[in-house]
Amino acid sequence: MSNELGLVLQVVGRLKGKQNGTFNGRDKWEVVCPYCGRKSGMIGRVKTGDYFLYACPACNTSTSLKNMVHEKMPDLKYVLTHNENSWYPIQNTSSKKGITKKKRSFKEKQETRSIAQEIMMRGRSGEISNQ
Ligand SMILES: [Zn+2]
Repeated sequence: MSNELGLVLQVVGRLKGKQNGTFNGRDKWEVVCPYCGRKSGMIGRVKTGDYFLYACPACNTSTSLKNMVHEKMPDLKYVLTHNENSWYPIQNTSSKKGITKKKRSFKEKQETRSIAQEIMMRGRSGEISNQ
C-alpha cells in the first residue's frame, strides 16, 4: 500500500491536485482530469481500502488509479515496479516463480552465447593479425 500511496502523491503532484476532504472515510485528492482537462477528477480509496481509484464525473470516468496511470502516465509505473504483485494479480505463485526462473536462465544462456561469440570473433581476428 505504501508504494501505491507514493504513486498517488506523484500523480497528484503532476495533476496540480490537492488533498481535500474524504472519500469512503479516507483521504481524497482533487486533481485536474487527465482525460478531459477539467478540475473535477478525484483520487480516493475503495471502500475496502485495498486500492486507489480514479474518478471524474465531468467525463464519466471511473477506473482504478493504476489503470489511469497505465493509460495517461505510463512513465510513473516505475513507482510500483519493485512491487509487481500490486500490478499483476497472482493466480498461482509457484507457476509465476517458474516463469521468472525460466526467463532468467534463458537470458543467461543468451548472454553466455554472446560472450562465446565475442571470444570466437576475437580469436579469429587474432588469427588473422598473426598471419
Ligand atoms: Zn474528466
